[in-house]
Amino acid sequence: MRCEEVQELLALHALDALERGDAEEVRRHLESGCPRCAGELAAFTEAQAAIPFALPAQEPSPMAKARLMAAVRKDALGSPRAGRAGGAWGRAGLAAAAAAIVVAILTGSYTSRRYELQTRELRAQIRSQQEELVRLEQQFRRTRDTILLVRSPGSKVIDLQGQEGLATAAARVFWDVRRGTWRLYADNLPPAGEGKTYQLWLVTAKEKISAGVFDPLKDEEPSGTVTVPPEAGAVVAAAVTPEPAGGSPQPTGSILLLGKI
Ligand SMILES: [Zn+2]
Repeated sequence: MRCEEVQELLALHALDALERGDAEEVRRHLESGCPRCAGELAAFTEAQAAIPFALPAQEPSPMAKARLMAAVRKDALGSPRAGRAGGAWGRAGLAAAAAAIVVAILTGSYTSRRYELQTRELRAQIRSQQEELVRLEQQFRRTRDTILLVRSPGSKVIDLQGQEGLATAAARVFWDVRRGTWRLYADNLPPAGEGKTYQLWLVTAKEKISAGVFDPLKDEEPSGTVTVPPEAGAVVAAAVTPEPAGGSPQPTGSILLLGKI
C-alpha cells in the first residue's frame, strides 16, 4: 500500500474500525517504519483522546466515508464481520451508532457544537466569578475602611436618633476628625424619595457644615469627607436633613436625625 492509501485509512485505523485486510496492510506499512504515516496516526490518536473536548473540523475523504458506511451497512445486514470476532464492533446496533458518531466527529458538527456550548458555559462562569470577585473586593475595602475608622485615635462615634415623624430611625456616624472622613450606618431610614436626598451636617455653635449627601437606597454604607475649619469652633452635634437632590449649601429641611457629641 502506498502512503496516500494508508493515510486515507488512518482515521479509521485509529478507531480500530478497519476490516482485517485493510488493517493488516496498514499495520505492515506502519511496521515498515514510515515516519510520515506514523506521525499521522499519532495525530489521529491524539485527536481521538481529545474527544469530546475540542477537535478541529475535518471533512472525511469520500473514500473513508464510503468505506465506513459500507462497513455499517454490512453489519446492519448481519453478515459475518471480517474484523475482530466477538468484539463490541461485532454488534450491528453498536457499530452503526459508533459509526454515526465517528462521521459526526469527523465532519466536526458534533464536537464544534459541543465545544461551543462548553465555551459559552465557561465564559459565563468566568464572568459571574469576576463579578463576585469585584463585589467581594468592594466589601473587603469597605470593611477595612470601617476598621481603620473605628481604630483611629482621632475617631468620634456619634449616635443619631430619629426625630418626630421618624422616631424609629437611627444612625451611627464614625467620624475620623484628623483624616476628615466619615461613614454612616443607618437603621430604619426610608428612601430619600424622588428628587430628594439626605444630607449630613456637622454643627458647631456658629455653623452648620455640610458633610455630604447620601441615599440609603443607593448606598448601604454611605461615606464621605468633611473639613471643619478651626474658626468654626467645636463640633457639638451631627444632624441629617432631607434636601433637594444634589444637596444644599445650608439645611432647608427639618432635622430627621440628630445626635449630640
Ligand atoms: Zn507511509
